[in-house]
Amino acid sequence: MSFSSFSLSSLLLNRLHNIGFNSPTPIQEKVIPLVLKSEDVLVQAQTGSGKTAAFVLPILHALQKEPKTKKPHIKVLVLTPTRELTLQVAEVFKTLSQDFEQKPKVVTIIGGQSIGEQLIQVQKGCDIVVATSGRLLDIVAKKQISFAHLNYFVLDEADKMLDLNFTEELENILKILPQKRQNLLFSATFSPKILDMVSKITQNAIQVSIKSDETIVKTLHQRIIQVNKANKSALLRHLIVSEKLEHILVFMANKRSCDNIAQKFRKYGFNADSFHGDLTQEERMLTLEEFKNQDIHILFATDIAARGLDIQTITCVVNYDLPRSSADYVHRIGRTARAGKSGLAITLLCGEDFEHFKLIEKRCNICLQKEEIEGFEMSEEIIAKPKGNPPIKGKRKSKKDKLREKLVKES
Ligand code: AMP
Repeated sequence: MSFSSFSLSSLLLNRLHNIGFNSPTPIQEKVIPLVLKSEDVLVQAQTGSGKTAAFVLPILHALQKEPKTKKPHIKVLVLTPTRELTLQVAEVFKTLSQDFEQKPKVVTIIGGQSIGEQLIQVQKGCDIVVATSGRLLDIVAKKQISFAHLNYFVLDEADKMLDLNFTEELENILKILPQKRQNLLFSATFSPKILDMVSKITQNAIQVSIKSDETIVKTLHQRIIQVNKANKSALLRHLIVSEKLEHILVFMANKRSCDNIAQKFRKYGFNADSFHGDLTQEERMLTLEEFKNQDIHILFATDIAARGLDIQTITCVVNYDLPRSSADYVHRIGRTARAGKSGLAITLLCGEDFEHFKLIEKRCNICLQKEEIEGFEMSEEIIAKPKGNPPIKGKRKSKKDKLREKLVKES
């Protein structure tokens, strides 16, 4: 199939050709025609599947046909769970509309940057707002933004929005949007919680999903290496040198371990840095830019880098610490092997991780062979599954839940 089989404008088709998008991805094949037909859609898609262009292309096609007004009105609102994803989505709108005679004005609204500047941009008038929910509500509270002319509401990575407890913010945003609008909703899963949230947004969405075996791309080679916990860092160093790994994203369990190990690797002479939520927005953007330009070769990151990050030159992802959920596993390893390229995902597995990893394999419907590296063989015991349910993200009781239970017991 080619993009020309959709009735997209010739400017868009030329642009796609120029940036090397030769044929639509499976998700684009299914979603673009539905959006062009003004349908509401609920799409099950991972990052890396080409989902951004699946909504950006038909929206830009429609915007091009809109009569021009002196001051633009907001016609498109895209909500995303993270600042990085917001900036990336805005960039895709700008890249794909680059040849338009009158380019749509795209404004990003995210925390960590000057709210004053964002207010000025909104007041000047814009066509497309890409935002995270918290900062958008700050701007709404100042009564400086109107969605009266909104045509499209896009919710990107709805599952992550729920994980991050953005439900209330989302509900508050829905209250200020016009009833008549087209809704395009994207989520990695269709859990009952997601479907419940979706029912508050639209009753008519057409569900689209791509079979799960298409979500871990075939060009991605997954390796699972058994190692003693104490030897993980030495093994990582060994692998980087002996296998000449170059542009590597390493996932750690927490912010402090990112900083510690990055410092250690710098001492060993590697170009290494850390990336996590304690950095300011400027630091986050600068670090990503340096990693993109390959001034940083090894980036030690928390799960904030697991979603949305689109750096096509990443050749290797390492799970130094295991992800908490199977969805996080898929997202993390999806940072490599992007846009048809090949990539390597290495997971380091120590004795205490075996049971949890088994569960991740089961949920991802995969079964991977475990290997050992000479000189780093595992001598630790495999720790047996504790009784009761395993600690899965989202299922664990929160502090609030425990407090509530305690209050009920005491009352
Ligand atoms: P996304 O899932 O939207 O994050 O996209 C993942 C990557 O695929 C991005 O680097 C896009 O630039 C790239 N991409 C999206 N659609 C296509 C396409 N039709 N052909 C080639 N690359 C694409």
